[in-house]
Amino acid sequence: MADVEAGAAEPEPFTYDDVRVEPGESRNERYRISETYLGDPIRVPVTIINGTRPGPTVFLSAAAHGDELNGIEVVREVAHDWDHADLHGTLVCLPVLNVPGFLAQERYLPIYDRDLNRSFPGHGESTSAKRMAHRLFSAFVEPCDYGLDFHTSTRGRTNMLHVRADTTNPAVERLSHAFSSNVIIDGDGPEGSLRREATDAGVPTITIEMGEAHRFQRDLIDQALTGVASVLAEVGCHPDSSVHWPGWRTVITDSSEKTWLRADAGGIVDMKLGRGELVHEGDVICTITDPFKEADDSVSVEAPFTGLIVGVLENPVVYPGNPLCHLVALDDDTLRALERELSASLSLFGGPDDGA
Ligand SMILES: [Zn+2]
Repeated sequence: MADVEAGAAEPEPFTYDDVRVEPGESRNERYRISETYLGDPIRVPVTIINGTRPGPTVFLSAAAHGDELNGIEVVREVAHDWDHADLHGTLVCLPVLNVPGFLAQERYLPIYDRDLNRSFPGHGESTSAKRMAHRLFSAFVEPCDYGLDFHTSTRGRTNMLHVRADTTNPAVERLSHAFSSNVIIDGDGPEGSLRREATDAGVPTITIEMGEAHRFQRDLIDQALTGVASVLAEVGCHPDSSVHWPGWRTVITDSSEKTWLRADAGGIVDMKLGRGELVHEGDVICTITDPFKEADDSVSVEAPFTGLIVGVLENPVVYPGNPLCHLVALDDDTLRALERELSASLSLFGGPDDGA
């Protein structure tokens, strides 16, 4: 719609259905996307903030998986705590996409356990999930120029804040770099996911993964807010602000050395490391023990190579085959930058247990 690079001279209204949000106006809407068994409306909260100056239209969405909460607070704070007096363009803020899942505190739509985030762009005459996706996509995603979709790890695991993006698409790559994340995992995303389908529809979109389900994690929320501000500076919503550089960055591609380490024994897990920690080859990542803590049955899991713990088990129980941690190798320059950052924070805070 609004195209900042073409230098739209006049701010434009944001329109959906028969609603117009004029430049300088904000609107809180409960937008009907479906109906319950009782015939009551299922309504998704949306805040539209239209700036007084021309600029791009950006959507921010969260809780496409209903129990992934961190992003909800990111989107709410951007929409309602930030000062938008100097906004160029329009923000479309969707803190809870999957309302039925959110009400049940479940990942999927409770109706036949459908994944809303595999149902985009949706269809007006298909399944209930695709009808909901279609309502959201056509009203609030397609009219945008860029998108940020917030997720967390699946229940029982956590991950460091990272961006998932198709970096072969230049506009998506630009967003992914602007978000100020240390780690970018490259890939076009699953079919039916919001970021892939939005990007395919001409709305470059990235996913931000942060922390674990069922939590508000303040450190990650603050990190994500820095990323949002940085993206808004990059795309021209806040042209006088600067893009934030995270200090070091690694882009993980198909050719990168990475692995989901899996348990070979069932048992109770004593995890030695947390998300975002550096581990050296041969270091013990965790031990798996039986209920009697018998030494003979104890298994130590060692790091197969030096790398970064991007994702890690939180719920300390495993069957053989369950994932323990997502370990990613770093190139030498990145490794040195990270070691410098870690030693600087150690000397600043006095010990590895402080400041976490
Ligand atoms: Zn998710």
